[in-house]
Amino acid sequence: MRYFESPQFSDHEQVAFCNDPVSGLRAIIAIHDRTLGPAVGGCRIWDYVSEEDAIEDVLRLSRGMSYKSALAGLPFGGGKAVIRANPHRDKTEELLRAFGRFVDAQQGRYITAEDVGMTVEDIETVARETRYVAGRSEGEGASGDPSPMTAYGVFTGIRAAVTHRLGKGALDGVRVAVQGLGNVGGNLCRYLRAAGASLVVSDVREALVQEAVAAYGADPTEPDAIHQQQVDVFAPCALGGILNDQTIPEIRAPIVAGAANNQLAEDRHGSELANRGILYAPDYAINAGGVINITEEGKAHYDRDRALARVGEIRGRLLTIFARSDAEGLPTSLIADEMAREVIFAARSGGRILNGSMGRGSQTEKAPGLHLPGTVVQKKSGT
Ligand code: NAD
Repeated sequence: MRYFESPQFSDHEQVAFCNDPVSGLRAIIAIHDRTLGPAVGGCRIWDYVSEEDAIEDVLRLSRGMSYKSALAGLPFGGGKAVIRANPHRDKTEELLRAFGRFVDAQQGRYITAEDVGMTVEDIETVARETRYVAGRSEGEGASGDPSPMTAYGVFTGIRAAVTHRLGKGALDGVRVAVQGLGNVGGNLCRYLRAAGASLVVSDVREALVQEAVAAYGADPTEPDAIHQQQVDVFAPCALGGILNDQTIPEIRAPIVAGAANNQLAEDRHGSELANRGILYAPDYAINAGGVINITEEGKAHYDRDRALARVGEIRGRLLTIFARSDAEGLPTSLIADEMAREVIFAARSGGRILNGSMGRGSQTEKAPGLHLPGTVVQKKSGT
């Protein structure tokens, strides 16, 4: 595979291939961009079908982390790690500690956290080898599992989308199809139900479906039918790539807003959704609650209420994206990319970082695309 020519390669700063024959660890750490700060992003443990799949995933996920932090106004760059292993079979203490040593060798350029296939306990094991770990459950200022915060952010984002698309200020009577009832999807169901929404749910793990039926009165459906439901909102909270050539024509919801990373199989699918009149909440904008929460962890004492308030700002940020999308006649996915690049570009060229408030009329410069740190970028007059 040619990495530099990969469609997912986006001027990544560094990609490190990590091999530990003793534990069997095969991992990739991708650092996309550190203009705004150290590269923060979780570690995914997944049984990738091929090495190419793992590389494509880590390249795309790490770019998403750069954009996520930039949009949220966080002092972080973007990075991500993937471990090619079965999380239920291959995850040993030796493997996790070997990964921790590779993270440590990055000397703070990359800070890891949990992602799919990783638990807070696993993160504690990694942390025995390195201090460059976030989302810890132990120690001063630790905030624990970020998933409930991610779910809260997605909940506020769904409220924004419902307001914008359906003109409703509340979720009472709104019907949501939730795909994936794991750490985020399960918590999201709780928030939605408490706000009066009704639910259709699916998961490949039947026990989780039955829990949601019992706890929230949700209607179950098959995993391959969840995106076809006649609902107000389709909320993908499982894996990426769910918005593709096959599924998009079958989506009947006017809104897609969920937690999963890399929901668009390819960037062009953002335009496909817009062409069909479906309002898409860009994944890295709506699912930033976890990484926002991690920022609060750096403070002397973790304050959950302060974290919740900051995560709640996702609602306003999405309303800005939707308004700018309408004004410019461009898909929300492109607008979000543009806004994130504006922040990174402004920081790189010595301009102002607008702390996440990048609405129309902002003072940022137009970003033509990302550049490697240290690249000299010509300053332009403001837009
Ligand atoms: P998780 O592993 O706890 O949950 C994922 C769930 O999806 C599991 O229950 C799994 O059985 C289910 N699933 C897998 N394939 C499915 C399918 N085809 N149909 C239905 N269900 C299926 O993961 P999570 O932490 O809840 O994260 C969910 C998504 O949100 C991931 O894409 C993750 O990258 C993203 N995300 C998570 C966080 C976080 O704080 N955990 C933050 C940002 C983004």
